[in-house]
Amino acid sequence: MLSSDEINSTEIEDDEEKVLCACGCGQFISKYNRWGRKRIFVHGHNRRGKRHSKASKKKMRNGSRKGKNHYFYGCKHPDEVKKKIGASRKKAHAERKKRK
Ligand SMILES: [Zn+2]
Repeated sequence: MLSSDEINSTEIEDDEEKVLCACGCGQFISKYNRWGRKRIFVHGHNRRGKRHSKASKKKMRNGSRKGKNHYFYGCKHPDEVKKKIGASRKKAHAERKKRK
């Protein structure tokens, strides 16, 4: 456990209230995000150390949400949406190429 002196010596900006990430990584985050909502975790830390339960793993594996059980089964995207998907995938592809 840190003494209060040690905690005070860590560099924290005064204008923003900071809190420790709840996952236990020791990183500080501003207490509120830009929409004024309370933050608990550093981005991406909310599922740290958590695992899918055996039941949900089984559900994911046995394909209960595939084929005719899938929510989008038999549905088609309208042309406008298809164009959007195509455009964003093209963009992602171009960025992947650039990185190489
Ligand atoms: Zn964390």
